Amino acid sequence: MCDIIWCKEKKADGTVCNTVNYLDPFNFWNWEGTIACAECGTVYYIHMIQGWMYRGPEKQPPGTKPDILPVYADKPLEGYVRYRPGVEGRTRPYLCLPRDIYLGVPDPRRFSIRGYPVRGWPNQPPSTGIAGSAGFKWEIEKLSPEVWEEFLEKKKKGEARDW
Ligand SMILES: [Zn+2]
Repeated sequence: MCDIIWCKEKKADGTVCNTVNYLDPFNFWNWEGTIACAECGTVYYIHMIQGWMYRGPEKQPPGTKPDILPVYADKPLEGYVRYRPGVEGRTRPYLCLPRDIYLGVPDPRRFSIRGYPVRGWPNQPPSTGIAGSAGFKWEIEKLSPEVWEEFLEKKKKGEARDW
């Protein structure tokens, strides 16, 4: 669900605004506050409960400061006229990007859930050639002695199991 506010305000030049302001559904599932139209700046009050528009949109008196801006707006009656996210003073930036922990750096796994070594980490020693290619034979003792040691240690402690 993505709720919208279709602005029908008359603009100064006499034309109707006819801008569809898109509210991001996740932020607005339970939300009360004011939002400005991206095109004409008219401020609307809404109160949304569990994704249902409980009250509003109600036009607020001119000069009301909006709590938030729409994330995206377009004018469906004028083809592809639109405001993308993050247009200064009209739309807010799109903040639904992955959190830091999901960006950039892999989380190398050295052992499977049963405690056996898996080739899930990068940068094997350069002796295996460019890109660390070692054919189909995985000489773990030679390529990653520290992981092999850790595995033997796990085996001794009974942390490596078949099931
Ligand atoms: Zn408007």
